[in-house]
Amino acid sequence: MQAVVIGGGVVGSLIARELTRYKIEVVLVEKSEDIGQGVTKANSAILHGGYDDPPDTLRAKLCAAGNSMFTRLSEELKFPVKRTGSLVVARGRDELPRLEELLENGIRNGVEGLRIVEKSELKSLEPYISDEFNFALLCSSAGITEPWMVAISSSINVSENGGKIITSDEVVGGTMRNGRIEKVLLRSGRKLRADLVINAAGVFFERVASSFGVDVPSVKLRKGEYILLDKKASSLVKRIIFPLPTAEGKGRLVVPTVDGGVLLGPTSVELPGFTPEDVSTTYEGLVSVRNSGEYLIPGIDNPGWYVKSFAGLRPETDQKDFYIRKAEELENFITVGAIRSPGLTAAPAIAEYVVTRIVPETGIRLVERDDFVSSIKERERIKELSFERASQLIDKDPAYGRIVCQCNEVSETEVIQAIRDGARTVDGIKFRTRAGFGRCQGGFCSSSIARILARELKKDLSEIRQNNERSWIVSEKVRQ
Ligand SMILES: Cc1cc2nc3c(=O)[nH]c(=O)nc-3n(C[C@H](O)[C@H](O)[C@H](O)COP(=O)(O)OP(=O)(O)OC[C@H]3O[C@@H](n4cnc5c(N)ncnc54)[C@H](O)[C@@H]3O)c2cc1C
Repeated sequence: MQAVVIGGGVVGSLIARELTRYKIEVVLVEKSEDIGQGVTKANSAILHGGYDDPPDTLRAKLCAAGNSMFTRLSEELKFPVKRTGSLVVARGRDELPRLEELLENGIRNGVEGLRIVEKSELKSLEPYISDEFNFALLCSSAGITEPWMVAISSSINVSENGGKIITSDEVVGGTMRNGRIEKVLLRSGRKLRADLVINAAGVFFERVASSFGVDVPSVKLRKGEYILLDKKASSLVKRIIFPLPTAEGKGRLVVPTVDGGVLLGPTSVELPGFTPEDVSTTYEGLVSVRNSGEYLIPGIDNPGWYVKSFAGLRPETDQKDFYIRKAEELENFITVGAIRSPGLTAAPAIAEYVVTRIVPETGIRLVERDDFVSSIKERERIKELSFERASQLIDKDPAYGRIVCQCNEVSETEVIQAIRDGARTVDGIKFRTRAGFGRCQGGFCSSSIARILARELKKDLSEIRQNNERSWIVSEKVRQ
């Protein structure tokens, strides 16, 4: 029996991992050159508590459950999680009822570690927060992670348990008989046998469903723009700071990142048409992100701290809830779509829900295997090691001592390990090792990384790409 999971974002990768617990062959197909490069790479990276999701929605149920699964998951899959806690801030007593509503909502959703704090405690928690705020909802279970590493580490775990990962190829449809999919067709012409097909294609979930003749609710895209700030900004903020939520969503926040930077944003603007390529940032968007950051933490909007701007797209439907269903039209096709925020937080619970609740609706009875290995080996980062451990590693392997990325102190061995794990592009190395994520944004290390990729993959330098087939780095020689 073989399951094909379409989409190597955080949702598809965790579903594929969940399936490898059972006696079924698993193939994960991702159209990009690497795992986790869709919505999963451009979001606020927050593990939400789950106090603002409307009770009785799938979002509420799976967010609170997913949040609590992250501690164990991060230990097994060796990606970082920091339980920083979060604060939703309010000014006067007139805004206090909104915090109380969120508190009650959270209690109904099963969220732990929630309480309202007053000014003196708020100031002791976050000394640089604006003096305008007198109350806040503290959620100690909220935290931050590296979303793409959740997906990448899951895919490593899938391969180590015998599953197959196919990147740079796209599912374009399938062959069907008697209301069942028999084969999944890829753009390359390859055909995959499929007893079960799970559509976790992110913003493309409607397009993938329709390529199998399956009707799902229409997708709308809501853009969120961000500014990433230098590590220096982290002296002003320790927790995730939210304004009061609005009809548009959770508002524009200040969020520490796991590697020591700070994010300002996101905006929330519905795009007029379906334009999944539109991840551009706008002047208006970035100004509003700066102003909102400054409103929460005066002094955080320091142009000397700007590192980069970027945008992500939320896939939504009019129902505003996740859409997780077996198709009416096909016996063995499941769509896991409209996975908007808090989809990252909910992802482990979504994966469990799909495999234990929705897969049985297809008539497939999964049998647990007894040789599933839940953990992957730690990929040691030279920057995070003690002097003694670093010396030991360098003695055994001198490439651990050759620092490729100066900003984030990434060694050549870490780059080589990332290539062994599946990275094929300069961005693949960046997201797996943090090389190029620092202050210079790859200005100094990209050329060395491209050369290491060419050497390890036995390719010509001109064949190495930044991220996709069309992102050439070297087009021709200037000197023989
Ligand atoms: C601005 C913003 C902020 C957010 N903040 C948070 C947050 O702080 N916390 C939180 O919990 N959630 C947050 N979210 C939501 C979260 O990012 C998403 O819910 C989650 O990343 C969705 O993951 P996914 O796997 O469904 O989608 P994706 O990561 O997009 O994965 C889908 C994959 O499918 C691939 N694909 C598409 N079509 C095909 C095909 N035909 N064949 C093969 N592969 C295909 C794509 O290339 C892509 O990699 C935010 C989202 C946005 C946009």
